[in-house]
Amino acid sequence: MSNISFLESVVQNFEKAADITGHPRGLLDQIRACNSVYRMKFPVKIKGEFRVIEAWRVQHSHHRTPTKGGIRYDNMVNEDEVMALASLMTYKCALVDVPFGGAKGGIKINPREYTEEQLERITRRYAAELVKKNMLGPGLDVPAPDYGTGAREMSWIVDTYMALHPDSVDGYGCVTGKPVTQHGINGRTEATGLGVFYGVKEACTYKEDMEALGLTPGVEGKKVIVQGFGNVGYYSAKFFQEGGAIIVGIGEYEGAIYNENGLDYEAVFNHRKSTGSILNFPGATNMEKTSDILEQPCDILIPAALENVITKDNAPRIKAKIIGEAANGPITSDADDILNGMGIMILPDMYLNAGGVTVSYFEWLKNLSHVRFGRMSKRFEQASNMNLIESFETLTGVKLKDEDKVKAARGADEIDLVYSGLEETMINSYNDIRKEWKSNNKVNNLRVAAFVVAINKIADDYMALGIFP
Ligand code: NAD
Repeated sequence: MSNISFLESVVQNFEKAADITGHPRGLLDQIRACNSVYRMKFPVKIKGEFRVIEAWRVQHSHHRTPTKGGIRYDNMVNEDEVMALASLMTYKCALVDVPFGGAKGGIKINPREYTEEQLERITRRYAAELVKKNMLGPGLDVPAPDYGTGAREMSWIVDTYMALHPDSVDGYGCVTGKPVTQHGINGRTEATGLGVFYGVKEACTYKEDMEALGLTPGVEGKKVIVQGFGNVGYYSAKFFQEGGAIIVGIGEYEGAIYNENGLDYEAVFNHRKSTGSILNFPGATNMEKTSDILEQPCDILIPAALENVITKDNAPRIKAKIIGEAANGPITSDADDILNGMGIMILPDMYLNAGGVTVSYFEWLKNLSHVRFGRMSKRFEQASNMNLIESFETLTGVKLKDEDKVKAARGADEIDLVYSGLEETMINSYNDIRKEWKSNNKVNNLRVAAFVVAINKIADDYMALGIFP
């Protein structure tokens, strides 16, 4: 029997939780449905020849607006995949209290086959197509980077939007993940990987949960494998290593490497940059079949590439105790059942990779308020803190060193606020999900719990709208 599709997996996962919520079937069907699916084909001239490009934008839910979700460039992009990703965005936003509906976009191209100039032409044309259909704008639909795209593509999109709306005061909020110099926010590039780390770290604080897995609390010393070494994988590896974990395996599309004594993420990155491949990294074992990396011994496995990489075929061979879904949909729904049966803890994508959309939300807020976070408060905070320290010194006669005083009095910069807002979000959301998991006897794992929490929040919105009295 063939493996199920990504969209079927998302629907099956939704249904595992839907009945537990007790909401009327019609309301659940509305929450599950994709509201708008726009498929477009447009011509782009490549080396003097017309080429027809196929692309999508799906707005899954308008229970809150604007809608929000990344844009993917990959030659495997298809309508079902974009619908699945848009659906996950709705549940993700609800879970982490980001007040948007879910959306997603995709262009069916392999970006490696195009020059920068050609990619710019394709991206600008895609943005113009969205503007024509009223599917791009700070109050309508706000894309962001995803697989195969980054800050560069977002800056082309914002520039195209502003050229078509030169009088728009809030227009820079039409897309997030922009370069910091182009109305972006400090911390967005690394946000998803950092969120992955904060999420796993929080899960690892619970002694009873770790003991049930045969692990000790904390991420320090835990062996980690990262599959996919792009934006999310690279930053996940960086923050795990800085947090005291040991990166033992890294996989990319050309192959994978493993060393049980540890791999330095930055050295691996530089090795790949200079040789063009992750393979042949000094001291590591090569794996030409890159999917083999998923089956190597480790405590924490972080799939950070694409969907459907763990299926019912390879699930029984997984050796990790914890799987942190950094990618969207890396585990098919039937593989999920197998892994749960094996006692593996799975931190679901809709929670674990929500760091990106959380910081995108901060960026959007910054764009609408037209001021950098911390600009109005940093000096004032610093002066107030210094006054407090000096009053303490006068009262106690204890004198602090000047450098300690400066450190203790420091006011928050944008990056400090972004990191702390992200950490707060990941901790709170994990505890919401865990509470549902531990307190509801119909909920037997974190994914079902995450869906229950998300569905309940979206249902509350619909009830408040009075559509389902
Ligand atoms: P990316 O394009 O920056 O990186 C993905 C990497 O995976 C690439 O380097 C690619 O070569 C590699 N890869 C592809 N196939 C592979 C395979 N079979 N084995 C190993 N490596 C493989 O993309 P990204 O932004 O890091 O996104 C990765 C995943 O994270 C996607 O599922 C995406 O939807 C999800 N995600 C991304 C963000 C974000 O902010 N970028 C936010 C939430 C979720």
